[in-house]
Amino acid sequence: MMRVDFVSLFPSMFFGPFNDSIIRRAKDNGILDIHILNPRDFAFDKHKHVDDSPFGGGSGMVLKPEPMFRALRFLLETTHFERKRVLLMSPDGEVFTQNKAKELSAFNQLIFICGHYEGFDARITELADEILSIGDYVLTGGELPAMVMVDAVARMLPGVLGSEESAPTDSFYHGLLEYPQYTRPRDYHGKVVPEVLFSGDHAKIALWRRRESLRLTFERRPDLLATAELTSEDRDYLEKLEQMQKDDR
Ligand code: SAM
Repeated sequence: MMRVDFVSLFPSMFFGPFNDSIIRRAKDNGILDIHILNPRDFAFDKHKHVDDSPFGGGSGMVLKPEPMFRALRFLLETTHFERKRVLLMSPDGEVFTQNKAKELSAFNQLIFICGHYEGFDARITELADEILSIGDYVLTGGELPAMVMVDAVARMLPGVLGSEESAPTDSFYHGLLEYPQYTRPRDYHGKVVPEVLFSGDHAKIALWRRRESLRLTFERRPDLLATAELTSEDRDYLEKLEQMQKDDR
């Protein structure tokens, strides 16, 4: 079982995404246990302030340290998981990847601190084991990034995906994009499914899929090839693709 805690000023944002399909099943099967804590409940001044204007001037509001520190202290005192990780959502963090999803799936508790408005008082970063971003763009809050990460991590947990939904063939799992998939009908208005997929020859199909994975990665995300796990046959094939690209120019 993995426990997930979202620390967020907007708990209602989390209601939809975990109530359908695969994630809902993971919750129902006791694999994923999701909790939400609102730092506003830890703001003890009369007006329950969680934000304030930035020192030094500037626009927008910054999340105050006290409610966030108290909320985290409460969580750490009331839950007792040996393998836990506190993750702060911020565009200036390390970019979240499939490898990070795999890595985080080994923990028993993940605590996501979600920012909002202009972001956090910098001292709040001390609470985090890691600062994570979902990409080089700025969203209004950390809720969507945290949900994106939980969805990706949950798929890595044993028992979450059925045999029909397998992770190891997915894009990024082995550092490459996934090969193209087809289903019925075999011929859709003249757009036909590659013949090899009907050959019944598993080795031939596996080779075609590997090459298509390499081709798609080469065409769309060549940056991934630098770190992908490649065999000498893969490298030979990539050299051929490169040569073909040069010949086309
Ligand atoms: N002023 C901040 C900056 O320039 O880095 C941006 C603050 S943003 C409007 C508000 C909050 O949304 C952040 O504190 C963070 O929690 C979340 N957020 C926005 N973009 C994000 C991203 N790409 N990845 C992770 N969290 C993000």
